Amino acid sequence: MTNKIWVYIDHFKGKAIPASWEAIGAGKSLAEKLGGGVTALVFGQNVEDLARQAFASGADDVLLGDDPVLADYRPEPYAALLARLSRASQPEVILFPTTVRGRELAAMSAVDLKTGVMPDAVALDVVDGAVIVTRPVYAGKLLSQARCSARPQLITLRGRVFQAPAVDTGQTGSPTRVDTSGLADTVQSEVVEYIHGEEGVSLTDAAVIVSGGRGLANNPSLTPPAGMDEKQAEVWRAQQGFQQLGELASVLGAAVGASRAAVDAGYIPYEHQVGQTGKVVSPDLYIAVGISGAIQHLAGMRSSKTIVAINKDPDAPIFKLARFGLVGDLNEILPQLTQAFRQKLGK
Ligand SMILES: Cc1cc2nc3c(=O)[nH]c(=O)nc-3n(C[C@H](O)[C@H](O)[C@H](O)COP(=O)(O)OP(=O)(O)OC[C@H]3O[C@@H](n4cnc5c(N)ncnc54)[C@H](O)[C@@H]3O)c2cc1C
Repeated sequence: MTNKIWVYIDHFKGKAIPASWEAIGAGKSLAEKLGGGVTALVFGQNVEDLARQAFASGADDVLLGDDPVLADYRPEPYAALLARLSRASQPEVILFPTTVRGRELAAMSAVDLKTGVMPDAVALDVVDGAVIVTRPVYAGKLLSQARCSARPQLITLRGRVFQAPAVDTGQTGSPTRVDTSGLADTVQSEVVEYIHGEEGVSLTDAAVIVSGGRGLANNPSLTPPAGMDEKQAEVWRAQQGFQQLGELASVLGAAVGASRAAVDAGYIPYEHQVGQTGKVVSPDLYIAVGISGAIQHLAGMRSSKTIVAINKDPDAPIFKLARFGLVGDLNEILPQLTQAFRQKLGK
């Protein structure tokens, strides 16, 4: 019998996105309520090892689409394969991690399957056989609960919210290889090249994030190199600030985030931006340094488990959300904090 709950395993070149294993954890909780087991969908080329990892992470079955046409993620053949499998086996629920690829594939598959998508779930429940999805709306000010009347119910899951099952390499199985013929006919795009972004800890997977805002440019004691105009001097100061922030991040093994004001001012590249128009993160610890706490920023980090804010303005809105607040000049606090963590962690 085919399982009712399917989980799409998102990966890049065979390396799984951790949220894929969290999705298996969420799938297993649903399966306890809906009955049956969890089937993992592994698409790619030479991805048998991912199938093995999916079994070790708790999948009861794996549908393996292994084909050169699936070597690079492209929405057309991936969605075509997913829709073909879904029509044949009629799962009740398909879970995806809320990654760029996961969102795209869920949306495209929903069109193919004439069903709906409920994106960015932070909680799942089952009522009368339907999955009730809780998801933040209005920049996280409200939580909405939704259900989908069509089948399958396509749901993307926010990263670092659901618990991944403990890996047990003793759990093994044989993946079911699926027919991939004809997928090449669906392809309309070609991956020309991958360009390396910055190395470092991925923001969305990070357990700890140290984030900087416009306040990092505010260090009048620093004298910029001669010949800089006011704007260049501001960016230079901010970059010294981000360097200091990077030291704290490196001691904590953290990723570096930023506010949009810092990104727009050219202090740091866009891939670091947290917020409504940046990345949505849920780390265990989020340290906001020189960030005021505008609603659009909060939309991206509100679900962090512990928030610490460093700001010289005691009325900054970030303090309303922060568990711990340090009111003072970040230029004094940051080096002390870094040194204290260095000693504490023996680094
Ligand atoms: C449609 C839309 C989408 C947006 N999307 C995003 C988004 O995705 N992410 C995002 O972040 N913003 C977003 N914004 C922008 C948002 O509204 C704010 O403008 C932005 O978050 C402010 O960034 P900031 O906190 O770094 O700067 P500011 O608001 O200028 O705050 C700087 C803070 O630093 C403090 N400070 C200054 N000097 C020091 C010092 N020496 N020591 C300690 N503290 C100091 C100040 O007290 C202040 O609180 C969006 C806005 C719009 C309209």
